[in-house]
Amino acid sequence: MSVKQADPHDFLGIDAGLGDTERDVRDAVRAYAREELTPHIADWYENGGLPRELASGLGKLGLFGMHLEGYGCAGLSALAYGIACRELEAVDSGLRSYVSVQGSLAMFAIHHWGTEEHRTEWLPRMAAGEALGCFGLTEPDSGSDPGSMRTTARREGSDWVLNGTKMWITNGTLADVAVVWANTEEGVRGFVVPTDTPGFTANEVRHKLSLRASITAELVLENVRLPESAAFPDVRGLKGPLSCLNEARFGILWGVVGAARSCYESALDYAKTREQFGKPLAAFQLTQRKLADMLVEVNRSALVARQLSTLKDAGDLAPSQVSFGKFANVRSAIEVARSARTVLGANGITLEYPVMRHMNNLETVLTYEGTEEVHALSLGAAVTGVQAFR
Ligand code: FAD
Repeated sequence: MSVKQADPHDFLGIDAGLGDTERDVRDAVRAYAREELTPHIADWYENGGLPRELASGLGKLGLFGMHLEGYGCAGLSALAYGIACRELEAVDSGLRSYVSVQGSLAMFAIHHWGTEEHRTEWLPRMAAGEALGCFGLTEPDSGSDPGSMRTTARREGSDWVLNGTKMWITNGTLADVAVVWANTEEGVRGFVVPTDTPGFTANEVRHKLSLRASITAELVLENVRLPESAAFPDVRGLKGPLSCLNEARFGILWGVVGAARSCYESALDYAKTREQFGKPLAAFQLTQRKLADMLVEVNRSALVARQLSTLKDAGDLAPSQVSFGKFANVRSAIEVARSARTVLGANGITLEYPVMRHMNNLETVLTYEGTEEVHALSLGAAVTGVQAFR
């Protein structure tokens, strides 16, 4: 009887256990990535940005708002959405961010908190990639503590007037619509802001060393006048933005499995072909130890993501469980990227290989959507019942 062999590229059989829909999504995104994304990603990264035209291809694939129902969205499972994020981030975290911000932040906010008019006006065009959205929560002096935001919205007659600055906003200069969170007399409220409204400007953040294949911007709101109907009607306080972040974090905890897998596969491939001291790097015990550690991290983080998908699809996922996934999986991916980098030696620092690009990107992923420390505090609060944020 032959002994069963584990597949080095799906060691725990996680993909072998996917259903038809999820496998179709995986194959479609992989094929699109191979033809349209991977050949260009090093240039996009080096030149700093992503082409606007990408939106229509990603829209045709059904990736924008793919886990939302109706309004032209695909309405697929959380698992299918996670798999798509994994395949995109296996190319680059900037690509997954492009899709996460559109679908999980801007579209989710409009879908969940908007009026029927907001939904019909924006969601079908956003799902198709004809309109792009961004999500403005962070400010120059308000990051981990969004409750300290200074952007205000005050009523003037039947209008709202917004003033303030948002910072680090992904897709800010590309967006047709911005979901902006601002302080009002009734607490924090969300607003749907067409970016051609007078008083709205977006300025690109330059000189980034991480997430270079992504546009990041400052949004300046100077007496931006909006009708009463621009506000999300039923949500007050940080519950609004935090509900959206929870969606996007789910995409991240799957996405980084892809970044880690790409680094592991790159190191494995390189170790089998590069020779030193008369034999392949893969034949040295120290290299095998590194590959074994990477293999464990990649598969363990995929198992975490798989289990959290099961909970999410059952409507049973707690925000602290999402924190667990983001905290654990980003950390794993960074360890894998750093170790893979060493296997590639000098070649590891170039854009010829994806590893250092992933490693640099993961520094952003560690920080945005709740820093590692913030998620540690969420986990601490979940298990002790004691809040240690302030
Ligand atoms: P700070 O909050 O100033 O934190 C600095 C350090 O202090 C961190 O290590 C943090 O963990 C630590 N710290 C803070 N509070 C505590 C505490 N209580 N206990 C212990 N340690 C603490 N924001 C958006 O709104 N929309 C976007 O589209 C968006 N895209 C982004 C894209 C990029 C490339 C980047 C880099 C950021 C993006 N962000 C976006 C902003 C991101 O969410 C913030 O950077 C993040 O929330 C952290 O805020 P901060 O950078 O101000 O750091």
